[in-house]
Amino acid sequence: MNLEPDDSSVQLAERLHATAALCEVVTTTPLSTSLHEVVLSGNATLLGGRAGSDVMIRFEDESGRPVRRRYSVRSVNPESDTFTLWLTVDHVGPGTTWVRSAKSGDVVDVIGPRGKITLDALADWHLFVGDVSGYAAFYRMAESIEVPGRAIFIVEIDAPDDALSASFDEGLDVTGIFIDREGRSTSDPAGLLKGLSAFALPSGLGHAYLFGEFHVMRVIQSALFDRGLAPEQISHKAFWRHGLSNADHGEPVKSED
Ligand SMILES: Cc1cc2nc3c(=O)[nH]c(=O)nc-3n(C[C@H](O)[C@H](O)[C@H](O)COP(=O)(O)OP(=O)(O)OC[C@H]3O[C@@H](n4cnc5c(N)ncnc54)[C@H](O)[C@@H]3O)c2cc1C
Repeated sequence: MNLEPDDSSVQLAERLHATAALCEVVTTTPLSTSLHEVVLSGNATLLGGRAGSDVMIRFEDESGRPVRRRYSVRSVNPESDTFTLWLTVDHVGPGTTWVRSAKSGDVVDVIGPRGKITLDALADWHLFVGDVSGYAAFYRMAESIEVPGRAIFIVEIDAPDDALSASFDEGLDVTGIFIDREGRSTSDPAGLLKGLSAFALPSGLGHAYLFGEFHVMRVIQSALFDRGLAPEQISHKAFWRHGLSNADHGEPVKSED
């Protein structure tokens, strides 16, 4: 068995000032219709970074070509040297193909930590908006809010059992709004716009974190500008793009149209 990460991963990690490592699958567990949990072991604290960080995993597509996909770290357990990811499985791509067949003992090539978005420590309230691909980042970030504080989640789901929650410190004021997609296209922002417009933004300094589909997140960002948030109050990252595979480096293709 190959005991070192691929040379391309070592070189890429160097350029990104990150670490490349081989991690072993400990468990894979279905959480809901759209999500699977994967626990990986090895270099967990180093790769897992801080709340908001993600890792980049190297897969092969159906023709054997290497591609990388990015997944937010849901949690890190330093004692067991493990970290947890929540991966969507309701579409077809190299990432879902891998997670559907992954089993304990499988080895994956991981680069981490990645990502620049972290919790705004000065904000009085934190608004997390997106789809189920954002859960891992949303919940880990919210768990790092200093109490007393406020976290609001507005998440569009595809099935009732995708309304997953988390346990937070009792001192955190939590509001969760789950919007049923009701068969709308994944590029249609109508559901999240409705959820957002039904919610009165709290007073005080707020920060919004938008993680989800490319087109939808852009519309939500504009809606939040219209509601009075300044650009520095919004952290916006497209995680994937309707109808298009992410590029080989793991990000959605950014071209217009
Ligand atoms: C920084 C960052 C962090 C991320 N964190 C997470 C995370 O924690 N959990 C997670 O599940 N995803 C996360 N993503 C998104 C994930 O990397 C993408 O969904 C990626 O496209 C999955 O790769 P794939 O090989 O499964 O599908 P791809 O080959 O990229 O896409 C195949 C097809 O599936 C569609 N598709 C891709 N993703 C979705 C989706 N979520 N829902 C519906 N259709 C989709 C595409 O439009 C395309 O038509 C993150 C992305 C980034 C950039």
